[in-house]
Amino acid sequence: MPVLNETHDLTLTSWVSSANDAQTDFPIQNLPFAIFRRQGSDEAFRGGVAIGDQIVDLAAAKDSGVFNGLAQQALEACAADELNAFMAMGSEAWSALRLALSRALRSGADAEAALSACLVAQADAEYKLPCRIGDYTDFYTSVHHATSVGKLFRPDNPLLPNYKWVPIGYHGRSSSIDVSGQAFRRPQGQTKAPDASEPSFGPCKRLDYELEIGIYIGAGNELGEPIALDAADDHVFGLCLFNDWSARDIQAWEYQPLGPFLAKNFASTVSPWIVTTEALAPYRVEWTRDAADPQPLPYLDSAATRSEGAIDIQLEVLLETEQMRNAGSEPAKLSESSFRHSYWTVSQMVAHHTVNGCNLQPGDFFGSGTQSGPQHEEAGSLLELTVGGKQPIELANGETRTFLDDGDAVILRGWCQKEGAARIGFGECKGLVLPAKG
Ligand code: CA
Repeated sequence: MPVLNETHDLTLTSWVSSANDAQTDFPIQNLPFAIFRRQGSDEAFRGGVAIGDQIVDLAAAKDSGVFNGLAQQALEACAADELNAFMAMGSEAWSALRLALSRALRSGADAEAALSACLVAQADAEYKLPCRIGDYTDFYTSVHHATSVGKLFRPDNPLLPNYKWVPIGYHGRSSSIDVSGQAFRRPQGQTKAPDASEPSFGPCKRLDYELEIGIYIGAGNELGEPIALDAADDHVFGLCLFNDWSARDIQAWEYQPLGPFLAKNFASTVSPWIVTTEALAPYRVEWTRDAADPQPLPYLDSAATRSEGAIDIQLEVLLETEQMRNAGSEPAKLSESSFRHSYWTVSQMVAHHTVNGCNLQPGDFFGSGTQSGPQHEEAGSLLELTVGGKQPIELANGETRTFLDDGDAVILRGWCQKEGAARIGFGECKGLVLPAKG
């Protein structure tokens, strides 16, 4: 498990003054990574670290003369247009760069003069995926989501018997994952109404979002060499916000017996910034398993998992309809939840994924599954909030929704906050629904 160190110190401030704002997502204790360039330019994309409302251009920092040793080697990898090589270097290199950046960005640091020339305003930046995602696996780790969705699909048998033993997942498709700002066409496909004798073809009528945490694998493992539970954190580079858009009507018809397919692979959106495992260390919380539930098999259980395996990431979903956008009004909040409710931890997902010898590679990506909290209003999808489309939700401007309309934009936000630690945030994950292809 990552340990607390000087980079987490609540009293640190930065010479980048916007980083000292109490409400910023990106204080000096965060230092998340992205791939960026100046908006509308033909500059090469390269690595960047967020600080306040600025980005430290890591390609420029590499040439600044400020850094040396392992941190300088890490910067050389971060100057590329994808973070895979840096992710592959492992947690010692990630930590060395974090520490060096933390020291160089602190109030009074000698590096200010050289490094202030390496800043680009976030308002002037555009992003792409932070790495080349090889394989993408989507888990299903919220027992609250699994139970309420199970009730809709199988009223007599909501939670299948394997759920409390196996971190359930399926292999997804990485080619349609894109960064925040993604706009995609409403998918078309086969659906079958319950009372219809045959399926029909057309635009999805039950388009939904899924509030998920995205997990980036850093250092991988050799084929045949499982990652043990307590070693798993060293393989996880960091976390982001993830919207796994879902076509519920296509899903309901296609999902048996092999699971999700075209209902899921038309678009998925990630936030640009990866908040590192190390930055999240102060927000570790105990992971518990109800005494009435099966306890995990030994390869999924450890003292460290029990004491600090979960992470308290507060999450919210907002909806910005076309009407709100035209009126210049604020998006409407749909729900709030926390990743701490997850039935399985990130480490358990990694340990389970590799226990059969499956090899993970730098830049591989996991979705956590929809993160719904225990209460109905904490649900992470419209499917749950509207009880399968039967109870429309009313928005503040009088509009109603059962599922998403064309022109709707969904915004995910996430942050960590507690007494004695700096508030850190994930920025924003936003995607827009366009009409189906005519
Ligand atoms: Ca999903």
